[in-house]
Amino acid sequence: MTPDSDPTIPVRTISARTADSVETAVRAVDLFKVYGRGDTQVTAIDHVDVSFGRGEFTAIMGPSGSGKSSLMHVLAGLDTATSGQAWIGGTEVTGLHDRQLTQLRRDQVGFVFQSFNLVPTLTTEQNITLPARLARQRVDQEWFAEVVHRLGLQKRLKHRPSELSGGQQQRVAIARALLTRPDVIFADEPTGNLDSTSGAEVLTLLRRSAREMSQTIIMVTHDPVAASYADRVLVIVDGRIADDLRAADTDQIMQALSRLGA
Ligand code: ADP
Ligand code: MG
Repeated sequence: MTPDSDPTIPVRTISARTADSVETAVRAVDLFKVYGRGDTQVTAIDHVDVSFGRGEFTAIMGPSGSGKSSLMHVLAGLDTATSGQAWIGGTEVTGLHDRQLTQLRRDQVGFVFQSFNLVPTLTTEQNITLPARLARQRVDQEWFAEVVHRLGLQKRLKHRPSELSGGQQQRVAIARALLTRPDVIFADEPTGNLDSTSGAEVLTLLRRSAREMSQTIIMVTHDPVAASYADRVLVIVDGRIADDLRAADTDQIMQALSRLGA
């Protein structure tokens, strides 16, 4: 029996996705993370409270070592918090055990990395559907076709990653993240390895995914131009949210960064 026809495999409900646009997709409540102990103790996340609305595209910026990756990792269930809570949708990430975390990352979270992380031996189509197949989820063919169309990958479905440009590979990684309709996509420097034209194309797609598909996206970037594509820019300094800008252009972002010494 194929997973598609197995009635015992639960199909995720879509009801959580049909609520109004102010629904909170991701939330940190008094989130605190320290590494080490005693003299070598480092506070990476310093009692952060923040909410991310469904369909919101947020850029996280700040100096190296300010806690951007730590925040993203704790929110995504890739690392534990010292205290406080992280929520994705209605799930308290900080209250889950290992097996449940694996399931959360599989079912509720999508990742896009700087290095694409595609499987080199698989075609575009196989790479995009891999997480769904690993989770034994039904691949929604209509949604697959729409995602592929919106990302302009129709003519690349049979190609392997080595036959694609960097921009195309990153579009495949975005399609892969979008396909399972996760509560949130975390993108870690997704344009870091791209030339400016491919980078702009990828950022435009991320922004359209948020606007047109209500996909919540949280992206770490060092690039004020990349951040200007986002609806919101959080500047993190010393583990705290030092600024929270909306609809900021590149100049406003650069001014905020220099004001904060970030
Ligand atoms: P960013 O992503 O903004 O560069 P990080 O979240 O990686 O910052 O790091 C925040 C702080 O936590 C830094 O001082 C860093 O050195 C420290 N840190 C990060 N990971 C670890 C770790 N695994 N062990 C000890 N300290 C860490
Ligand atoms: Mg980092």
